[in-house]
Amino acid sequence: MKIIIGVDIGNATTEVALARITGNKTEFLASGLNKTTGLKGTIENIEGVKYAINSALKKSNLDISDISAIKINEATPVIGDVSMETITETIITESTMIGHNPSTPGGVGLGIGETISLQDLFQGEKNKNYIVIVSQKISFLEAAYKINKATEDNYKITGAIIQKDDGVLINNRIINKIPIIDEVLFIDKIPIGMNAAVEVAPQGKTVNVISNPYGIATIFSLSSEETKKIVPISKALIGNRSGVVIKTPQGDVKEKIIPSGKIDIQGNLRKKAINIEEGAQAIMKTLGSVDEVYDINGETGTSIGSMLKNVKSVMSNFTDEPMENIKIKDILAVDTFIPQKVKGGVAGEFIFENAVGIAAMVNTEKNQMATVAKTIEKSLGVRVVVGGVEADMAINGALTTPGTSEPLVIIDIGAGSTDACSIDKKGKKDLVHLAGAGNMVTLLIQKELGIKDFNLAEDIKKYSLARVESLFYIRHEDGNVQFFERSLSPKIFAKNVLIKNNQLIPIDIDISIEKIRHIRRGAKEKVFVTNAIRSLKKVSDTGNLRDFEFVVIVGGSALDFEIPEMITKALSKYGIVAGCGNIRGTEGPRNAVATGLIMDGRYE
Ligand code: ADP
Ligand code: MG
Repeated sequence: MKIIIGVDIGNATTEVALARITGNKTEFLASGLNKTTGLKGTIENIEGVKYAINSALKKSNLDISDISAIKINEATPVIGDVSMETITETIITESTMIGHNPSTPGGVGLGIGETISLQDLFQGEKNKNYIVIVSQKISFLEAAYKINKATEDNYKITGAIIQKDDGVLINNRIINKIPIIDEVLFIDKIPIGMNAAVEVAPQGKTVNVISNPYGIATIFSLSSEETKKIVPISKALIGNRSGVVIKTPQGDVKEKIIPSGKIDIQGNLRKKAINIEEGAQAIMKTLGSVDEVYDINGETGTSIGSMLKNVKSVMSNFTDEPMENIKIKDILAVDTFIPQKVKGGVAGEFIFENAVGIAAMVNTEKNQMATVAKTIEKSLGVRVVVGGVEADMAINGALTTPGTSEPLVIIDIGAGSTDACSIDKKGKKDLVHLAGAGNMVTLLIQKELGIKDFNLAEDIKKYSLARVESLFYIRHEDGNVQFFERSLSPKIFAKNVLIKNNQLIPIDIDISIEKIRHIRRGAKEKVFVTNAIRSLKKVSDTGNLRDFEFVVIVGGSALDFEIPEMITKALSKYGIVAGCGNIRGTEGPRNAVATGLIMDGRYE
């Protein structure tokens, strides 16, 4: 009888499987896992390996002295990096838009009229519709009194824009309810005597007229040419609960394309170049037209150039190989957008600039697993064997998922890369490493929401959303309401929250749930679904996805609550059974390689 440990050192996670081997019987006793310490494939990994092994030992009441051998994966180091290039610059002259999300706007509905300051209202015309502007010099009592008085005098007021946070206070005191937007900081910048539209959506809803270019076109009778120009404005208002659009005669919106450099793709036969500003689709198409990618470089002096160079230099330092020998084998480009503060905005509003996100990946043949193995051996006093090819190990492990059989493809979606391996009807195996995985999804979420904290973006990726509508119930993002017997904390009242391990974690960003959800799902589609299809095409001899019957998704990202549904839907078109792995019928999508290492035998 022998006790054997399989160790898989990943970019993000080190996974361990522990088994008892009696004759040819293998009995799995425990699993363990820890964050990978240091760069994968370096001696810094030892700390993480020790923790992961110890957690498995503890679960099985064993001691390190009981272990006959440790088998680690023959992992070729893979480094991924991501960069973002903004490719448009939108210039809004004059204040044509207040895409504003005050926490408590007043009233509800859409108001259209000419802007006028409240003081001047009584000199206005009675047959015109007005949007009144209330500066902070006027108290809410006075404002409400004047609006009521004007209504009595037959002035038509259709909406209000208010400097202070008085929207609700005023709304509660006026007879004729109107949509009110408050907390507009630079109220003096709002042009007077211009046509404007104020929209406030009901609680839990988002504006739907001014976020639609044709909605704005209808309000202001725009021509088709003018409508094209206001698209960035309507786009910026999507997902807001309230907003104002003002049409000024001089006001103009211009979208300018910023040159962002080109990338060169060197194939085995020919070389192709593509400009980043042409967008993700064009980049991926060019990449796809190169049969076998030999190397990818970015234009010197541009940020894509330095990003690609940086990935190579990290790998070069780590493997002690000269930079020239390090090649980038794959990139994933996705279209995205980055919120930018509007220059000269009146309430700190944002506009979305188009951007391209690029994940790059470099892997090398040279590896230092032998050194890592020696270090582990010394430190733990147990014999360490470096095991077979990672792909074979992953296939061995994944096939322990009940209901799977060959021919199949395993897609291992980790943090930095998506690795696929396949075994076809004839038993032929293939392996690809693709750029882009969990980290890129998190980065897209972070950039598109404009949040600083990567960990918050990571949580937004992993957990579903809800809004605390009262102290006794929350509304989940799918619209379902959940009641609580005990009062919730007032601290989270009226906040958007993440449901993390049954706890409600408030998220302090001024963006509606609908918009966060939209961005979250979009990021996953752009990376996970694209890469699942890309990897299937690559491992198939014919480029035909129908070559395979089963697709098993494993790796940390397979734990994602939306992945199964998204990938299953995308692949069902091709008649493929796709789902997340359940290694050994117990481990979920984790532990495939570690399990495979043990099943592979050969511990001597
Ligand atoms: P690696 O093989 O590179 O070590 P892992 O297989 O551990 O990586 O996967 C790490 C990735 O899995 C990270 O991007 C992380 O955000 C993601 N991940 C981990 N748990 C979850 C979860 N519950 N939902 C979504 N993603 C998750
Ligand atoms: Mg992994």
